[in-house]
Amino acid sequence: MILITGAAGYIGSHCALNFIENNLDDIVIFDNLSTGHIETVEQLQKVAPKIKFIKGDLRNKNEIENLFKKFKIDFVIHFAALSQVGESVVNPVLYYSNNVIGTINLLNSMVENNVLKIVFSSTAATYGEPKYTPIDENHPQNPINPYGSSKLMIEKIMDDYDKAYNLKSIRLRYFNVIGADEKARIGEWHNPETHLVPNILKSAFKKGDEFKIFGDDYDTKDGTCIRDYVDVVDLANAHRLAYEYLNKNNKTDVFNLGTQEGQSVKEIFNISQEVLNKKIDYKIVQKREGDPKILLANSSKAKEILKWQPQKTTFDSIKNAFEWEKILNSKKASN
Ligand code: UDP
Repeated sequence: MILITGAAGYIGSHCALNFIENNLDDIVIFDNLSTGHIETVEQLQKVAPKIKFIKGDLRNKNEIENLFKKFKIDFVIHFAALSQVGESVVNPVLYYSNNVIGTINLLNSMVENNVLKIVFSSTAATYGEPKYTPIDENHPQNPINPYGSSKLMIEKIMDDYDKAYNLKSIRLRYFNVIGADEKARIGEWHNPETHLVPNILKSAFKKGDEFKIFGDDYDTKDGTCIRDYVDVVDLANAHRLAYEYLNKNNKTDVFNLGTQEGQSVKEIFNISQEVLNKKIDYKIVQKREGDPKILLANSSKAKEILKWQPQKTTFDSIKNAFEWEKILNSKKASN
């Protein structure tokens, strides 16, 4: 059985759906629902009624120990974490306890139960300010916020657990994730929402609440920040490939996941207007603190070794995100 932690959240749920649709549906989801949603789990269970859900918190050792007693788990995909950079600066204790201590509890239960394979949701935020672009996996890791630090600490702990206990991990370092399930069963659902694409879509729905571009005087082609936007369904595929790779090769490794194509905030905004076929109001505001002007992945390693090939265009991703946003809006209207 595969344990997926955090599958009530954005990336975890798309990964679970991908596994289910590839006949890997012997799954137990563990999530404390602090930022994820029970409705998301219910959607997954509609597709695969046999998948199990346990509401629980990785910070609580008993809960995770009981989980391993109750189910015959042989592989873990680990998403459960807090992931808001700004919040992590204001409230680091939350990030170190949820992300680091939570993961230590998980890893200890794994080792105790001889479950020695994990795919881990890491992040480009572990690199910090880019020294060069595109960023490959050997780029120095100097995170500039507690969120990135918490993920880097986990990567290091995983290295030590590999040496000491033979626990093998694949760490996937994501760049900017966008998009939603093509059938709009699940999608991005953060509260509060801080990310670019959902914020653009939200302001398109709400009259008078204009979208804010954080700074247009960066040293880039159009003055706005450049990021590497990767589709969540493509990303979910990479997790399945990593799962297969780890099962086959039993080897610790790390992969960047991005498209290696940079797009500016204005470009994403323009594509969104195209998708919606309407003008969206916006204004330029101050730069957001800690935003590097460019973040771009070199993900040739994932392509070569995992045979991963991102397929979605940004237009497709934003279109799927838009379909999902409509559903999210109608949920709110009916509540
Ligand atoms: N951004 C923006 N307005 C928003 C949200 C984001 O201009 O309402 C910009 C942000 O400054 C960054 C890019 O969009 O350059 C991506 O930001 P996001 O928060 O989506 O991801 P991050 O790069 O912080 O992981």
